[in-house]
Amino acid sequence: MRQILHVDMDAFFASVEQRDDPSLRGKPVVVGGANRRGVVAAASYEAREFGVRSAMPMAEAHRRCRNLVVVSPRGGRYAEVSRRVFDVFHEYTPLVEGLSLDEAFLDVTASRGLFGDGATIARRIKDGVLEATGLTASAGVASCKFAAKIASDLDKPNGLTIVPGDVAGFLAPLPIERMWGIGPKTAPTLRRLGYQTLGDLAKADPAALERALGSWGPEVRELARGNDPRDVVPDREAKSIGAEVTYELDLTTRDEIARTLLAHASRVAERLTAAGLAAGAVVVKLKLHDFTLLTRRTTLPSPASDTRTLHDACLVLLDRFPLERARVRLTGVSAQDLGPAAAVQPSLFRDEKEDKRRGVENVLLRAKERYGDKPITFASLLEDRTPRTVPGPGARDSERLPSRRAEGRGPRRS
Ligand SMILES: [Mg+2]
Repeated sequence: MRQILHVDMDAFFASVEQRDDPSLRGKPVVVGGANRRGVVAAASYEAREFGVRSAMPMAEAHRRCRNLVVVSPRGGRYAEVSRRVFDVFHEYTPLVEGLSLDEAFLDVTASRGLFGDGATIARRIKDGVLEATGLTASAGVASCKFAAKIASDLDKPNGLTIVPGDVAGFLAPLPIERMWGIGPKTAPTLRRLGYQTLGDLAKADPAALERALGSWGPEVRELARGNDPRDVVPDREAKSIGAEVTYELDLTTRDEIARTLLAHASRVAERLTAAGLAAGAVVVKLKLHDFTLLTRRTTLPSPASDTRTLHDACLVLLDRFPLERARVRLTGVSAQDLGPAAAVQPSLFRDEKEDKRRGVENVLLRAKERYGDKPITFASLLEDRTPRTVPGPGARDSERLPSRRAEGRGPRRS
């Protein structure tokens, strides 16, 4: 049986800030733009007690917590700490697939002879990360990615959840919102249809689930049954790193599409940085309502791994698509021609100027308003080496499950 770990740092950006500045410890801290029109990038556990969450508008966070301490993001610093975290992962297996700066899947099946079973390795990794960075991580251990990902989130912070051999039995009592892509829009519909738990989805009539969820239904059922054969694909061997999302409602304006590309660029930048890679080329992919797939590719003047550069390239590419009257059901961004990022100064927040940053945050905020509160941090990641994606789903909360050979991620509670 495979042993897959999902390891996720606890409130990563906020925890880095609290570690670096002792005066912030024990306080409700958020990382984000000082401007009230921005959004929360990360919230400390103290802030979460007030109901403050990442992706929440800053003004709302202030409303919920009067003593909120706002810290400006230091992307270079997070990338530096992230590299130390990933170095610990790589001590136990080369099969490390980063999902962002602060979380990864690890396949430790072949490492057990050397280091002990999955649970033991998870404990050692948590200890190693704490020793290397002073920060806690939460881990899930399971025989498949889906269950490992859910498990790591069940006992945060500093949690460790071992999924027993009976994966389906472990998943059964969990609420349907634990399923990738079932969010505030889809969940009420499913609940009305009588699906309350993952166990209900596992037992569902496949045809009924397909009617409720579209072509995505059968996959949901398989996952709820604990059937998830996807492998951990190490980023350092990846030919490309991508992010893409299928939307419940077709996108019809350039603005809408551009906003989704920013979210994808941000996710791709995080993964590149976590893997120590830079992109030499950027590809934008659009799937039209009739499933026509269009792609445009550009080579970057110099390799890059930051959101701004990737997104700028995406916008240039966007103008090369015939968008008049187009109805777009899927958008995607992938980074190609990957190489080591040694010469690149990684920065998630390169646009230091407040007005520029405000611009980006506003775009993110509007995108979140448009698509619900999850898609930005809840990106469905697809490797472009996947020969094709599964045709899009029906009603979804803006996001669909990645195809089996590709990788996805669940709701990010960071
Ligand atoms: Mg995290």
